Amino acid sequence: MDDLDEMLSQQQQYYRERARDYDAWINNYLLPAEKKFEELVNSSPLTGDILEMACGSGYWTERISRVAHHVTALDGSQEMLDIVDGRQLPNVSTAQADLFNWNPPTQWDGIFFANWLAHVPDARFEQFWRTVSAALLPTGTVVIMDVAPAEKFIEEEVVDDSSLPIARRRLKDGRRFDIVKKYWEPEELLDRISPLGFTGKATPVGQEAGRGFVWYELE
Ligand code: SAM
Repeated sequence: MDDLDEMLSQQQQYYRERARDYDAWINNYLLPAEKKFEELVNSSPLTGDILEMACGSGYWTERISRVAHHVTALDGSQEMLDIVDGRQLPNVSTAQADLFNWNPPTQWDGIFFANWLAHVPDARFEQFWRTVSAALLPTGTVVIMDVAPAEKFIEEEVVDDSSLPIARRRLKDGRRFDIVKKYWEPEELLDRISPLGFTGKATPVGQEAGRGFVWYELE
């Protein structure tokens, strides 16, 4: 296992360990933009069979399941998926998958991921987008929610090496984990994914509350 594999495995462990507290945290974290997010989900193209990558505790899964025909929700952490399963959403199925080592078994009408792309290191970026392409029907769309640099205030410690930006996170018991955290400027991200075959628009969300969320709709 090289250093990057080791960090990505730490990243998975960090979220497994955090699963129990995560749902309350994400609800509170996204609260200032909750209404806007609801509008965006409701008017999004996430209506058919949808793949959600890195679903976490299901904050988005629940909202998307109200407009989608079916949601397949993947995450690396079984602890997170147990929370999603506990929501008992009739049109949602869950599966554990390491998204850096996952081959799509089928193709979906739409793909969604939130607060995930920031955790994809540059060295795995193109491979990740190849996986997204392979999982998407030719007519499909990709919707992303992620964070711009205005959200950096949530980090206690940032190691800003441009090739591998890292955030140092601490669990309640004091254990520390280094995770990949890239705060994309929307234009920078759109420029980076255009040669990989994805174009679209970015909508800033939460600016009036001093927040840096971004909603992307791509095709
Ligand atoms: N999308 C959810 C949300 O917005 O609340 C969760 C986002 S959370 C910041 C990142 C998620 O990525 C965690 O649920 C974690 O378990 C998952 N994760 C981390 N590494 C992963 C990997 N290699 N494969 C799949 N999921 C992974």
